[in-house]
Amino acid sequence: VLCSRRGAVGKEEYMKYKDPKQPVGVRVKDLLGRMSLEEKIGQMVQIDRIAASPDIMKDYYIGSLLSGGGSTPLPRATAADWVNMVNDFQNGSLSTRLGIPMIYGIDAVHGHNNVYNATIFPHNIGLGATRDPELLQRIGDATAAEVRATGIPYVFAPCIAVCRDPRWGRCYESYSEDPKVVREMTDIILGLQGEIPNGLRKGVPYVAGKNKVAACAKHFVGDGGTTKGINENNTLTSMHGLLSIHMPAYYDSIIKGVSTVMVSYSSWNGQKMHANRELITGFLKGTLKFKGFVISDWQGLDRITSPPHSNYTYSVLAGVLAGIDMIMVPYNFTEFINDLTYLVKNRFISMDRIDDAVQRILLVKFNLGLFENPLADLSLVNEVGSQAHRDLAREAVRKSLVLLKNGKTANDSLLPLPKKASKILVAGTHADNLGYQCGGWTIAWQGFSGNNDTSGTTILGAINSTVDKDTDVVYLENPDSEYVKSNDFSYAIVVVGEPPYTETAGDSQTLTMVDPGPDVINNVCGAVKCVVIMISGRPVVMEPYMSTIDALVAAWLPGTEGLGVTDVLFGDYGFTGKLPRTWFKTVNQLPMNVGDSHYDPLFPFGFGLTTKTMVARSVSAGVRRAAYVPIVMVFLFVGLYFQVKRTKLSRSPASLFPRWVSSFLLNHFQNSRMARGPPQIQLC
Ligand code: BGC
Repeated sequence: VLCSRRGAVGKEEYMKYKDPKQPVGVRVKDLLGRMSLEEKIGQMVQIDRIAASPDIMKDYYIGSLLSGGGSTPLPRATAADWVNMVNDFQNGSLSTRLGIPMIYGIDAVHGHNNVYNATIFPHNIGLGATRDPELLQRIGDATAAEVRATGIPYVFAPCIAVCRDPRWGRCYESYSEDPKVVREMTDIILGLQGEIPNGLRKGVPYVAGKNKVAACAKHFVGDGGTTKGINENNTLTSMHGLLSIHMPAYYDSIIKGVSTVMVSYSSWNGQKMHANRELITGFLKGTLKFKGFVISDWQGLDRITSPPHSNYTYSVLAGVLAGIDMIMVPYNFTEFINDLTYLVKNRFISMDRIDDAVQRILLVKFNLGLFENPLADLSLVNEVGSQAHRDLAREAVRKSLVLLKNGKTANDSLLPLPKKASKILVAGTHADNLGYQCGGWTIAWQGFSGNNDTSGTTILGAINSTVDKDTDVVYLENPDSEYVKSNDFSYAIVVVGEPPYTETAGDSQTLTMVDPGPDVINNVCGAVKCVVIMISGRPVVMEPYMSTIDALVAAWLPGTEGLGVTDVLFGDYGFTGKLPRTWFKTVNQLPMNVGDSHYDPLFPFGFGLTTKTMVARSVSAGVRRAAYVPIVMVFLFVGLYFQVKRTKLSRSPASLFPRWVSSFLLNHFQNSRMARGPPQIQLC
């Protein structure tokens, strides 16, 4: 059927919003003008995939779906399974009157972490230690490719929280305690979405193409500043504190074109962020001119009241009036739809507010190309867990490791370790546990334990494939000290730390490593030279063990690529990571951040020893050795000179030396003697 720009020709009406040649703004306006209240409200709803079906997508005009933390995992689902699942729902949305595609969102917060076999990058705290924004951009790019390969165009990342207290269970989702570091790390957005091309205005939501995803800066704002690090709690700080610590990374994210912003469960000075009109509408959309959509957190509106969901109509009113555009419901969506419809029909919420929300959502969908390509194909499935992405994650692990101690004195550095040794001990619960290595937000919300839920290399596996074939590697989770003493180990590698966790489950007022970590350290390090590799989402109590251990490495939550650890441990690369946060001595000091007046850390913010690579080390040892050669030669020649002189060139000890040396010396002496004439006899 032919269409013309002026209107319908033949049977089908020309619809501007369907014309990719039209500017996005024109398409949004055209589509908005065609939508009923029901269709608009539907766009504002995001539900969990478990609560959805293609019919529900169609019947309620649902605008978005998610696989969130609380969602049921899809164990071992392949990329193709994901594509088919997403397409199924999408077909429901496409069969609506206006055919508006839904947008599927997922927590891809350190790689595509819900998906079996995907590349799992270090969690943000480790990335903060790299101080390498360009690396972050490449990680964003790889993550986008893996996510898009599964048919998903939207990620709830990056978390740009500035964690000010490691007792917070989400501290590892924060790049740093320092807002400057967090700001730099927002370059991951350029990788996820693509860089805004020259000529386009900075600060407008932007997505570059079909290998890219819409990003989400979260959680607005002050999530990392709650009292005692209690999750979802109150951030008590002045406007100046908020603007100087927690807000700057939002500014950067917006300039870099971030498409969406998620609101924080926390409160600011007692007021729930989900109901904070001053900051969401006033500051974010007004002052910072954010043009993408604002999404609530999971059941975020419910939690406006205490207890949650005790006055839902009020929550809907407060949240939508505050400026939230898309609501992560995620289950009882009919209640939300009914409440919002009631509130609009009775003029508690204006149509302008609804239109503002919907046009923002449509803008992101148009940017993503969802109207042109709503259904994913299988052409990208090989991106998931590709070797190139694993190599990149390995590089990130290398750069994220922070060397905190190397030897008990300045002269007895233990690292890098030699690959060739007769027998080494690997100990600790975290040495051979991929789930521990990856932490929370991996396959399941709270993470997993063991090696069966996805593929990757544990640290033990990496050690085994790195050391010389003649090196005997013994692995024991918790050997007793007598055993360690009575065996002739060259050295030990102890891998201990925290178990996986996230959100409130990870809040801790003690910050201790999980048992038997302390025992392993004492048993092993008390008996043999050891390096401790700490697998944790934050600094943990270490002061009591510092005198026992020889070397300490903060490895954070490195993800699936354990070889990144051994690359540095055995000296193929040097240590370069710097602490992204202060390492406290005791929890009583907390909160304690760089710049505080009572600053007395075990290791300060920014600390990190460096090592040479093994090659550089042997080159420099070689250079040192080479420096001795001329000195030794000089001594040799001088000694010989006098020796030969004394023996008056008769049967000379010079004959002990190679012929050319002897003849050189003999010639020299003969010539000089001849030049001087016969020895003068002094008469007295
Ligand atoms: C978290 C968010 C996450 C959302 C969806 C919430 O519990 O706070 O960071 O994006 O769940 O999984």
